Amino acid sequence: MNPLGIHALVWAGDIEPSSVELAARQTRAAGYQFLELSLHDTTQLDVDHARTTLAEHGLGVACSRGLAFDADISSDDPAVVERGARLLRESVDVAAALGARNLCGALYSALGKYAQPVTRQGYANAVDVLREVAEEAGRCGLGLGIEVVNRYETHVLNTAAQALRFIDAIGAENVYVHLDTYHMNIEETDLVQPVLDCGDRLGYIHIGENHRGYLGAGSIAFGSFFHALQRIDYRGGITFESFSSAVVMPGLCSDLAVWRNLWSDGMDLAVSARAFMQSHLRAAAATVRQVGS
Ligand code: MN
Repeated sequence: MNPLGIHALVWAGDIEPSSVELAARQTRAAGYQFLELSLHDTTQLDVDHARTTLAEHGLGVACSRGLAFDADISSDDPAVVERGARLLRESVDVAAALGARNLCGALYSALGKYAQPVTRQGYANAVDVLREVAEEAGRCGLGLGIEVVNRYETHVLNTAAQALRFIDAIGAENVYVHLDTYHMNIEETDLVQPVLDCGDRLGYIHIGENHRGYLGAGSIAFGSFFHALQRIDYRGGITFESFSSAVVMPGLCSDLAVWRNLWSDGMDLAVSARAFMQSHLRAAAATVRQVGS
């Protein structure tokens, strides 16, 4: 079965040492194999402590981030592009030092509503920077997951088909597609064809409900999505992602548009999500074994 992970923001709003300890303890207790740490603010992160803490709990780690409007590699402005490139290089260093194998997310733009589509120059800038960053990441044994994000949170790419073209342009072995069911539900025609189109270029997954709350308490057709994963024999990590202002800090809540809360008990949510994903993975595997596709 695929390694299952959970986003640290289910447990704590920052990644200072006490929060990483809490997140690691809870992640383990809820039955997950790895923790995803967002690197959007690493000022409080003690990398050595985090690495040791994760190891003590027998957990793997993945890292994720988006960029910012003033540090954005999809900009036309070379100074803004350079600031974005610097954030990516720093994140590669931190992710590698933590022992991560994946650095994922909206690595190509800010995470927010843009007023215009990406320009030809901005797109080319993002491709060029990511080609360089991928080379550096590769030397650290790190892959880059290009998360497909909805139109209200990026202007660079909103579908798996666009992500595949973007990755073709980058042309690096260690760059792959990162799909998120929450975003797919907004942008894709269905939840099956994008998975089949990605095939072995799908490298990371976020599982989120349409409202980003309890899995199974919304409208996403998870059965067909997990069946599609089984059809391409997806072996990579699957991370549950959910946000509530019960945990997430006010600034980040605004970035993520967390205007109302779907939950307050992170442990109940996490255990429920883990059981939901395992049940879907088992059902899809048994079905494909039985009927062949
Ligand atoms: Mn996501």
